[in-house]
Amino acid sequence: MTRRQSIVFDRAAGFYDNSRGFPPGEEAAVAAMMARAGGLAPASQVLEIGVGTGRIALPLAPHTGGFYGLDLSASMMAQLRAKQNSEQVYLALADAARLPFPDDTFDAAVVVHVFHLVANLEGVIKELGRVLKPGAPLLHGRNQMDKEVAELRMAWHEVVDAERLAASNWGRPVEVLAQMGWRQQGLTHEHKFRHEYVPLHAVEGFRQRLWSSTWALSDDEIERGVAVMEALAHSRYDDPSQPVTTTSAFCVDVYMPPARADG
Ligand code: SAM
Repeated sequence: MTRRQSIVFDRAAGFYDNSRGFPPGEEAAVAAMMARAGGLAPASQVLEIGVGTGRIALPLAPHTGGFYGLDLSASMMAQLRAKQNSEQVYLALADAARLPFPDDTFDAAVVVHVFHLVANLEGVIKELGRVLKPGAPLLHGRNQMDKEVAELRMAWHEVVDAERLAASNWGRPVEVLAQMGWRQQGLTHEHKFRHEYVPLHAVEGFRQRLWSSTWALSDDEIERGVAVMEALAHSRYDDPSQPVTTTSAFCVDVYMPPARADG
């Protein structure tokens, strides 16, 4: 499935960190894991496409010699700027399908929860291959919810969003990377963390359209999905308005670009 337009996160800038941020202390551990996975060194020049509010960029930048982020949302990057202290993060308002950098510039590229949003996935992957130095890795990261949280979300997708789920933008980037000759290097790197989670708050997040998968849906579709999630939450938990402790993970896969033909 090809999108006509990339999904820009302007509307999420005000609530992104509250809904997607790591629990306190975990983002440093996530950054250290990413730096290890990518073999980053103090001189490494790193690019993140879809840098957003800097959830990944700000803790990762100190592991690098220069961190370049770009996004189509000025509002998301304004949040990054508001949090930035001494981290060397340089920003550009640009489309990942047209990277404003010369060939062979970066020692690593970072992509976290972005590939499923872009209009031109093949074009974006091609551009990443162009700006990476030969043999430099792409670090593809994602949050992995624990089974209970994932089941609640899956109930939503099955009722409201089955078509989009079937088109599975989540699985597609991995297939497209392979088709375009990128090779996964090693196994998935994983950082697990414990956190509290209130099942009915998670449901409410869908009603409030915190997730980009809800943005194109009608009010009726939202209410239908929320009703199913609420019923599941009440069947699973004695009191789904109370916090439960759960384990989630942040995962990173390392991909190496295909060799480029000379010329
Ligand atoms: N990577 C950050 C993180 O993990 O917290 C932000 C992820 S957020 C889900 C996705 C970001 O990608 C949004 O800020 C959105 O505006 C941006 N985006 C979507 N399509 C894009 C494109 N074609 N070029 C650049 N940025 C894009």
